[in-house]
Amino acid sequence: MKTFENHTGGAFPNVEFDAAIIGKLSQSGPRYTSYPTADRFQQDFGYGQFLEAVAGLRMRRSQRPLSLYIHIPFCDTICYYCGCNKIVTKDHSKAATYLGYLKQEIDMQGRLFAGMGQIEQLHFGGGTPTYLSDRQMGDLMAHLHANFQFAPDAQGEYSIEIDPRTVSVERVHSLRAQGFNRISLGVQDFDSEVQKAVNRIQPEAETRAVMDAARAAGFRSISIDLIYGLPKQSMASMEQTLDKVIAANPDRIALYNYAHMPHLFKPQRRIADEDLPTPAVKLDLLALCIRRLCAAGYVYIGMDHFAKPEDELAVAQRQGRLQRNFQGYSTRAEAELISCGVSAISAVGATYSQNEKTLEAYYEKLDEGKLPVSRGIKLDTDDLLRRIVIQKLMCNFELSIASIEQAYPIRFAQYFAAELEKLQAFEDDGLLEVDPEWITVTPKGRLLIRNICMVFDRYLNLPRADGPQPLRYSKTI
Ligand code: SF4
Repeated sequence: MKTFENHTGGAFPNVEFDAAIIGKLSQSGPRYTSYPTADRFQQDFGYGQFLEAVAGLRMRRSQRPLSLYIHIPFCDTICYYCGCNKIVTKDHSKAATYLGYLKQEIDMQGRLFAGMGQIEQLHFGGGTPTYLSDRQMGDLMAHLHANFQFAPDAQGEYSIEIDPRTVSVERVHSLRAQGFNRISLGVQDFDSEVQKAVNRIQPEAETRAVMDAARAAGFRSISIDLIYGLPKQSMASMEQTLDKVIAANPDRIALYNYAHMPHLFKPQRRIADEDLPTPAVKLDLLALCIRRLCAAGYVYIGMDHFAKPEDELAVAQRQGRLQRNFQGYSTRAEAELISCGVSAISAVGATYSQNEKTLEAYYEKLDEGKLPVSRGIKLDTDDLLRRIVIQKLMCNFELSIASIEQAYPIRFAQYFAAELEKLQAFEDDGLLEVDPEWITVTPKGRLLIRNICMVFDRYLNLPRADGPQPLRYSKTI
């Protein structure tokens, strides 16, 4: 494995910020949590096709580990920047109804996957998973354990996204006792003016108390989410937020680019254009974050993610085990992903399948005794090949051409002749190196990894069956 040395002299991938190149190449593009991307899923893929995919695994006696994703769509209040699929309501009785249906889906999935490997990874996302009460969460976890076999705590990664505004110190201890061993906290920004502008008031002391409680309770990894490009953010405010983040000492940091797309996400219409940092300031904010986090000893994992060198994510990257899925980066390559809940996306065998996106449609399918699959895609050989190429580049910043030729009956230089020609422009800009054995992304190219992967995306230039769509991808940087 070829690597570039980072500032610590360790063999970790590092990153170099080049404003001129970023300015030149910034464009809209997918985040590649899947390939093909979700906007290419097809309506003629339903429950029947999902059952076929699981039957195929059973026939091959697959014992690949299983990964579970549970989607809790509810939130108490709206954050104006949010682009998630969520339901904002203070009527908590809706959660009780939802849980009843969710448990039905878990029962069905549990029966389908019975005897086919153990759960090594569990992730609760949303919305706000801690919208559920302590009792509801305990009940749901017991239900999951009754339907699936889980790897022991020391072996499995069991994570939950929490909103520090919704949990007490006692609740954090309770989550650990219920089986979670990793926790990620939405913070976004510690500055009170920024918090006001996005309708998310979250005092620093509250966040620190939750982090301290998570450490005391024995959570193995604590992650913080930040966003740059929010309204009212400035270099000075970001410096202060970073001081606080670094002092809080999380194991991982996700640093997201705020994508202002009010034509797609209604809550964003409440953000005043004049409060947003200019594109130039936004780039300065990103450069500042990267400089400060790297100086504080964090390793750049890839798209939006930083981790301490000893964190499992960084270790997995060094060992070539890193994978990208709908929750970002993950350490379990090759796991089958079973997702339950409204709008959740599964990745089973050579398929992706997405559940119904509205509660009504989700409940209706379950009432009919069917899994609530609404659309999906069966990958062909070309999709699988391009998926592995994109995954490797995204996760490792390099690709062994020989390993692809061993796994697929192709000559890489012939099959990807057009793509290699396009990569030449990136090579000329110093973003990657191509030789007959490796494609290697340089530290300067790492922030532009989406642009590089887009070269291998066959669908980008294909029209969609349902006609032209409004601009749907965020900026690559
Ligand atoms: S950012 Fe999180 S808490 Fe805020 S509205 Fe979106 S999903 Fe809910």
